[in-house]
This record gives sequence, C-alpha cells and structure tokens, in this order.
Amino acid sequence: MAVTFSIVAPVFNELESIPELYRRVQAVMSAMSASWELVLVDDGSTDGSTDRILELAKQDKHVRPVIFARNFGHQVAITAGWDYARGDAVVIIDADLQDPPEVIPDLAAKWREGYEVVYAMRAEREGETWFKKTTASLFYRIVHRITDVKIPVDTGDFRLMDRKVVDVLKTMRERYRFPRGMSAWVGFRQVGVPYKRAERFAGTTKYPFNKMLKLALNAITGFSYFPLQLATYFGFASAGVAIIAIPVVGILRMTGSQFFGGQATTLISVLFLGGVQLISLGVIGEYLGRIYDEVKGRPLYIVRQAPEE
Ligand code: UDP
Ligand code: MG
Repeated sequence: MAVTFSIVAPVFNELESIPELYRRVQAVMSAMSASWELVLVDDGSTDGSTDRILELAKQDKHVRPVIFARNFGHQVAITAGWDYARGDAVVIIDADLQDPPEVIPDLAAKWREGYEVVYAMRAEREGETWFKKTTASLFYRIVHRITDVKIPVDTGDFRLMDRKVVDVLKTMRERYRFPRGMSAWVGFRQVGVPYKRAERFAGTTKYPFNKMLKLALNAITGFSYFPLQLATYFGFASAGVAIIAIPVVGILRMTGSQFFGGQATTLISVLFLGGVQLISLGVIGEYLGRIYDEVKGRPLYIVRQAPEE
C-alpha cells in the first residue's frame, strides 16, 4: 500500500493521551487529503496503553501497532518507528501531545518545497519546570559545543524526514542512540520550523533526571571523542607544570628556601593526579563498555506483535 505520511509516536504508559492523540492526528491528516498511517510503538507500557493501541488498530486501519516485548527506551522506539513506517515522509511525534499534530502541515509544506529533513524548533515551552527547561537548554548547548555534528539547539525529535533519509537512518544500527544527532549527521537539505511546545496532555514525564543524563552521554559519546581527549590535555598541562616546577624548586633549594617543603604539597599533587587518572580511566571504561555492547550485536529491540501487513 502506498502511504504518503507516516506519523510515528513512541508510547510508554500514555493511556490517557492515546485517544486524544489519535483524534487530533486523524483530524489533521484527513484535512490534508493525503494517505497516512499512525505507527504507535508501544515501548513496554504497563498501564493498559497496549490494549488501547490494539483496540484503536482494530477500529481504524490507519493505526499500525508495534508492540515491544519490554521497555527499550524512547530512542529505540523511534528506531522501530523508522523500521515499520511505510510513508514517503515520516514524522516523529511525542505521544503526550507536547508536539501538537497541528504543526504537521507546516512541516509537510517545507517538505513539498524540497527539504528532506524538517525539524520543529521549540520557540516556547509551556508547563515545564524551571529545572527541566534549564537542564534541557544547558544540554542542547553543551552537545552543540563539543560534538562534531552541528545538531540544531532547542530541537527535539519532533521532525519530518523524507523516505531517502529514513532509509539511510535504518542502516545505522548503533546501540547507544541519539536520533536527532543521527538525523543531523546524515546531511541532506535541512530546515527548521518554529513551534510552541505545549504542556503534557496527561500523566507525568517519562524522562526522569537519570534518563536525561543517559541521553546526554549517548549524544556526547556517540558524536565526539572530546572526553577521551581531555586526558591528553590534562597530561600536557600537568607535565608543563612539572617542567616549570623542577628548575624553580631546584633553585629555591640551593638558595636555602624551604618554600616547597612539607607533606601537604606532595599529598595534594598525588591526590590531584590520582583523581585525574581515575577519571580518565572511567572515561575510557565508558567508551569500552559501549564498544563491548556494540560488538555483542544483539537486536536493538524485540517485538511481541508487529503490524499485520
Ligand atoms: N517514551 C518511550 N519510552 C520511554 C520513555 C518515554 O517511548 O522509555 C515516550 C513517551 O511516551 C513520550 C515520548 O517518549 O511519547 C517523550 O517522553 P516524555 O514526554 O516523558 O519526555 P519529556 O517530554 O518530558 O522530555
Ligand atoms: Mg513529553
């Protein structure tokens, strides 16, 4: 079946939002008079969202359910969406309606103009805590600064991508994923469309601080060697200090000064360098663990129930 638009929404315990998401996507898409499908990826929900999705799929053939065997995380759910979407254009959207489906026609208009990646930029964020906004803003800027790909700031996963782009992304099977970085990395003609990020329709965020931290680590390690290079910089800096200190201390000793005497100096430098070394070891370990996981080559996700066709 030829489908023009695939709307992909990862769902993790969004029982109350699902009917509203369906209603609004349905309204927007039928007004666009193009063929469409709504791919709902159930990321191991435990609140009955799964049955809700399956019910919807029975009522309306536009809805295609992908049911995971357990929770694999938001990024992996997006990946499954790429895998199962059949459309010429694929739109990733949050299931909690923070990304209003009403923005899709704006994204589609840019796509019709010839852009292959149309990302939605958060011009405003509503109803989120000060902490969430500050950490998110900091996150976007740090990632932008230290990674090699220029990932647009204040941009989430809400975006439309052309079939060509999705086909490339589907071949990138890395385990530690940062989808918005991946979709910037592939190139193509990209453009941003500003939108107002709404409040969650129902429920609470599924992104506690530790998950945000993990995502940040995926972004940094996936797109930069900077943390590994830090050890080299520190090495040069402390070697530099030592080279200057050796003649200085030598001369002070010869002139009878006791300035560098005492255990405190020794203790501090040993602790400092020991700390730097352990941190560097940890950084190497972080990359090594990721390599180990990649080498195992396990499937990214396991599907309990895939769409019928
Ligand atoms: N989500 C998911 N798996 C997870 C966590 C979240 O599929 O392990 C989905 C969630 O249902 C929502 C989207 O990812 O559709 C974004 O999550 P959320 O709204 O909780 O994040 P926030 O907007 O607070 O950053
Ligand atoms: Mg949300």
